[in-house]
This record gives sequence, structure tokens and C-alpha cells, in this order.
Amino acid sequence: MRLLRMLLCCWMSFGAVTVAAAESDPLLLLDEKNPRVELDSHLEFLADPSFVADVHAISRLPDQRFSRHSGGAPNFGFTEQRYWFRTQLLQVTSDENWFLEFGYPPLDNIDVFLLDQHGEMLVAEHGGDRRPFDQRMIKSRHFTVELPLPLGEPVWLYVAVQTEGSLQMPAVLSSAHHYVSTSRTEYYLLGLYYGALLSMLLYTLLTYLSVRDASHLYYIAYIAAYALFQLTLNGLSFEYLWPQYPGWSNRMLPLSITVATLTLILLTRSFLQTRTLAPRIDRLLLLVQRLYVALALACLFMPYDWAIRLSTASVVISPLVVFAVAVRIFWAGYRQSRFFLLAFTVLLLGMVLYALKTFHVLPGTYITEYALQIGSALQMILLVVALADRMRLLKQENLRIEQEARALLEQRVLERTEELNSALLELGDKNRQLSELSTIDGLTGVYNRAHQEEVLATEWARACRQKGPLSVLMVDIDHFKRINDNHGHQSGDAVLKTVATLIKGFAKRKADVVCRYGGEEFMVILPDTTLEGAQLVAESIRQALAELDIPLVGEVIKVTASIGLASAIPGSPARDELVALVGAADAALYRAKQEGRNRVCLSSA
Ligand code: GH3
Ligand code: MG
Ligand code: MG
Repeated sequence: MRLLRMLLCCWMSFGAVTVAAAESDPLLLLDEKNPRVELDSHLEFLADPSFVADVHAISRLPDQRFSRHSGGAPNFGFTEQRYWFRTQLLQVTSDENWFLEFGYPPLDNIDVFLLDQHGEMLVAEHGGDRRPFDQRMIKSRHFTVELPLPLGEPVWLYVAVQTEGSLQMPAVLSSAHHYVSTSRTEYYLLGLYYGALLSMLLYTLLTYLSVRDASHLYYIAYIAAYALFQLTLNGLSFEYLWPQYPGWSNRMLPLSITVATLTLILLTRSFLQTRTLAPRIDRLLLLVQRLYVALALACLFMPYDWAIRLSTASVVISPLVVFAVAVRIFWAGYRQSRFFLLAFTVLLLGMVLYALKTFHVLPGTYITEYALQIGSALQMILLVVALADRMRLLKQENLRIEQEARALLEQRVLERTEELNSALLELGDKNRQLSELSTIDGLTGVYNRAHQEEVLATEWARACRQKGPLSVLMVDIDHFKRINDNHGHQSGDAVLKTVATLIKGFAKRKADVVCRYGGEEFMVILPDTTLEGAQLVAESIRQALAELDIPLVGEVIKVTASIGLASAIPGSPARDELVALVGAADAALYRAKQEGRNRVCLSSA
């Protein structure tokens, strides 16, 4: 991770080299009070473009051929040349071994030689990520060489470095004690960091399985690619993932960077829903996305130095682009983007702090030194929070929409029910009217024959239960045919109406019912009425009718009626007794006609 800083540095200063004339004594005194020494400014260097010289030839060169390096770790940017570095070491307090560690794992070839005063070779070790990991003397992510340093005897350390990428050589000498204790702490902290990334990845994966939201997948891909990039930069992927394949790391570094930036763009488009919320920006992001896809493919084939330059550029540009888009979407009022924006604000803050430190605007404190790592770790955590927050807000929104829809539905149902109820009410009214109409005689307005049968049967049954009398009158208009003949059918109809109304006027009790039995024949049903009572009603009807003046067009006519009367207290509900009652009334009517009409006759039965 410290190496990301170097990568950025090298990108910012392509090939910049800090050189100063050899001034101070190149002899480096090693004692246990300073168990960790950065070689940086103790080094002299020499370019070796021809690759022919061996260490003995180099050691025989005059001192003037070497330049003194000043400042931090040597950084020659992108160069294909081989560089030789050297320094003279003298251990002054004990004869313990020291460890020389190269802090930049992507270097291709590193050759380390230790020569004594007489030019005798004490150590010759070869490392870099172009050689299988197993060949390393010390199995560490950083190429490390153990140097036996005799007490009080100066020795020459020569290092030849050649690489396709940026040539940086942060080399550190540590005493054995110091090396053992610090490398454990270092691995422990790295383990913590990758453990955190892994747990966020797994957490998001499990969340994805339940919510099935594409943003979660892109985040998983992003974190995986980012972790791979860091692992490769730290030399851990070479140590643990593909120790048998030297050179793979060289491809993996630009490839993982490009895939990380690509997934970042995918995550942004999905999370911020740019396609619907900001279509113009989305088209731009789509273009960037396609460029990254092309770059990722090209990383597999194009020369390493180009691949690493382009991918490093994408690492710097992408967070800026994403940040700008997040600001724009947040500004537009899309609340779900708030933690996403925060995540990239923190990342950019880290980048800015780091840049300010690099250009010596800010002092190198713990925060500024690790600003990039802190920023990216916080960004990863905040993105998990952002995903959860977004899901929560989306759920709330869905719930609100659902509730609104339900309220609307309930309202509609209520309205419809009311409409339906009033329609039913209306229908009930109509039905009642209809059923009434079906029992009424159209011409006279009294009940019709069908209803008469029903009423008679009901009243007969009731009388039977109550052991009470039931009387029936048969009223027939006398010589009605003549009225039709003399005055026309319509006058006949008018007479029928008048007679019916008159008869209805005499059926005074609630249970009394008047029906039109036939053409000009009416039946009056008088429940709970004795023969004597019925005789009074019949006589009243006959008399009133005889006295009635019926006005017709141009004249006034008179009609009479003959009435047959029968009464019974039913002995059984059987129908034949009822038929007999009606027959008796009919017979009495026949008798009334026989005896000269306009009279009431009682049934003899
Ligand atoms: P009677 O005194 O013997 O009862 O003589 P009538 O003429 O009244 O008796 P009849 O049964 O011979 O004639 C009944 C007439 O009533 C026959 C028919 O033309 C007439 N009639 C029946 N229904 C209607 C009606 O709805 N409207 C009119 N205008 N006449 C009707
Ligand atoms: Mg008649
Ligand atoms: Mg008749």
C-alpha cells in the first residue's frame, strides 16, 4: 500500500531522477542502536544500458563513474535500463547478520552481491518477480537477502536492478532482531486489512443473495479487483496466489487496476441510477466504461510500461469522475446517494492529503503518510453503509407507495360499494313495484285473478288455524254486454273502473281484498267475517252501485250488480273445501241472476 504512493509518485514524475554529485563518505556504519537504515541517500548508482558488465567489472570501475543519489528512495521512472547501486557497509558493534529488503515487489530482476575488501564474493542472490518465488532465500513478499557482515571489516554491497515498469528502489537494511519482529507486525497488519476487505465482500455477497440488487454485485467485483490490485502491489499475490508464475504479477497489476476502475464505473452507474436520473452523464460514463473494457483487454497484450501508465491514470481519474457524478446526483435531490457521496469524499480527501504531503505542503504525519490507505478503507466501509442505506430508503419508498395505493384502493372500494348499495336499493324499489304490478289488474287497479288465488289460499289456511269464518262475495255487473253494445268498449272499460273503485271503498278492513275475477266479475274476500257481516257489506255494495250515476261521454248511465255470498269456518286446510266455498258463492250469484238480478243471494250450503 505504501507502494501505491510510489506508483502515484512515479506517475506524477515520469522518469524524474534525483541526482547529486558524490559528496559524503559512502561508508555506512551499522550498529545496533540504529537497527533500521534506509539505504536511499547512502547509495551511488550507475546506468548499465548494455547489460554486459558483471559485478567484478563494475567494481573495478573508477569511483567517478558512480553518481551519488540524494533524497528518498531512488526512482528512475519508466526505464528499460539496468542500474547498478552500491554502498560500502561497516558493522561496528557485533557480527550479527543484517537483512536487506526491497520494498517494491513489482521489480523484475534484482541481483545482490556482497564483496569483501579483496573483491571476494561473500553473497550473490537473485530475485524480483521474474524468478519463481520458491528460489527466494527468505520467503517474503519483499525480496530479502541475508547479509553476513563481519565485525570491523568494510564490505561492498552491489545491487543491479532492471524492470519493465517504473524503476524504484526503496531498500532497507535491518538488523536480524529488528527484521524478525517488524516483519511479523507488518504481516499482521496486512492480514487485518485484507480480513476487513474479505469480510465486507462476504457480507455484501450474503446481502446480495437476499436483496438481489445489482449494485451489490458491482461492489463485490470492485472490492475483489481492488484487493487483488493491493495484493499484487504488496507482493502478497506472488507469494501466495501464483508463486510458480513469475511475470504474472506484471500483467496482473495493470489488469487489476483497470478492472477495479471498470467495476467502480459500473457500481456508480447502477447505484446512482444515472441512466434514468442523468442520461447525459450516463452516456459519458458508458463511454468511460467501454474505454476501460478495451483497456482491460489491452492490458493482456500491450507493453507493460504502457499498460501501467494508462491504468495508473485511470486510478487517479476515476474517483474524480465518480465524485463529480455523485455530487451532481445528490444535488438533484436523490437522497439515496448521500453515503455514496460521503465515501468518495473521504477517498478524495485521502488522495488530496497524500498529494499535499508528497509536495511538502503538509508535514509527513501518521495521517498524511497513510492518507490513501485510510481513505480507501473508509471508502469501502462507507460503500457498504451506502448500499444498506439505499436499500432501506428504497424499502421505505416502496412501503409509502404501497400504502398510498392501498388507501386509494380502499377509497375506490368504498365509493363502489356505496354506488352498488344505492343501485341495489333502487333495484329493490323497482322489484317491489314490479311484483306489485304483477299482482294488479291493469284496467281496474284492483288485484288480479292470480293474486286472488294466492290470497284466498292464505286466508283459508289462516281461518283454518284460527277456527274463524271466511266469507267470499262474487259481484257480477248486470247486463254489462249491453253497455258495451250501446256505448262502446271504451265506455265499458270506464264503467268497470268505476265499479271496481266503488267496491274497493267497501272493503274497509286491512285484510279485505278486492280482485277482478273475470271480465265484469269481481270477488271480495272478507277474512274473519261472518255470513251476517258479509251480507251487510254485500248489500251496501249493491245499494251504492244502484244509486251511482256513472258519467259517460255526453250522458249519465246507471248499472246494477248481482252478488252471490258464501261463508264458512274451515274444518281442514284441504283445497277441495275451499273450491266448494267458491262454488257455493258462484251458485248463489247464479241464483241472484235467476231471481231477477240487482240482489244479494246467500249460499244455501
Ligand atoms: P248478466 O246480467 O247475465 O251478467 O249479463 P251480462 O251481459 O253482464 O253477462 P255476459 O257474461 O253475457 O256478458 C259479459 C260481457 O262483459 C261480455 C263482454 O263483452 C264484456 N266484457 C268482459 N270483459 C270486458 C272488459 O274488459 N271491457 C269491456 N268493455 N267489456 C268486457
Ligand atoms: Mg254480467
Ligand atoms: Mg259475467
